[in-house]
Amino acid sequence: MQTRIRIGQGIDVHQLRKGLPLFIGGVKIDSPFGAKGHSDADVLLHAIIDALFGAAGMRDIGFHFPDTDPQYKGIRSTLLLKECVQTIRREHWEIGNIDATVILQSPKISRYIPAMEQKIASILNVHESQINIKATTTEKMGFAGRGEGIQAEAIVLLIGNE
Ligand SMILES: [Zn+2]
Repeated sequence: MQTRIRIGQGIDVHQLRKGLPLFIGGVKIDSPFGAKGHSDADVLLHAIIDALFGAAGMRDIGFHFPDTDPQYKGIRSTLLLKECVQTIRREHWEIGNIDATVILQSPKISRYIPAMEQKIASILNVHESQINIKATTTEKMGFAGRGEGIQAEAIVLLIGNE
């Protein structure tokens, strides 16, 4: 039987504001500013969710979890990721790997990356070696460089299991 494999891509951006909490990859980051959004504004988890739905051919995060719906106000994105992976598994997809990049000027988040990878792997019920997170700056250029916002991009590979 032929193996089905599908690639998916996701991008997310949030504004940064002083005094808000900063969640990236399900981990709370020690930071004087945080991301603004309807949910907890976890830019990395949102990019991963979009990539997962995209690879499965199931549209995007806004289709499944509309930000006009009050039930998602302030929701932890870890719960959205869990619901997302349950949805794609019902369609007989399994995760091959995820590679993602977080783009922000500061604070430096490299020390949080192992915790992010662990958290994401445990939510998705996959091995940590299947999750790779990177962080980069934009050399002080653009909205991320000026500290106005944070961006994340994710690529996933799904493997059909039937
Ligand atoms: Zn988002």
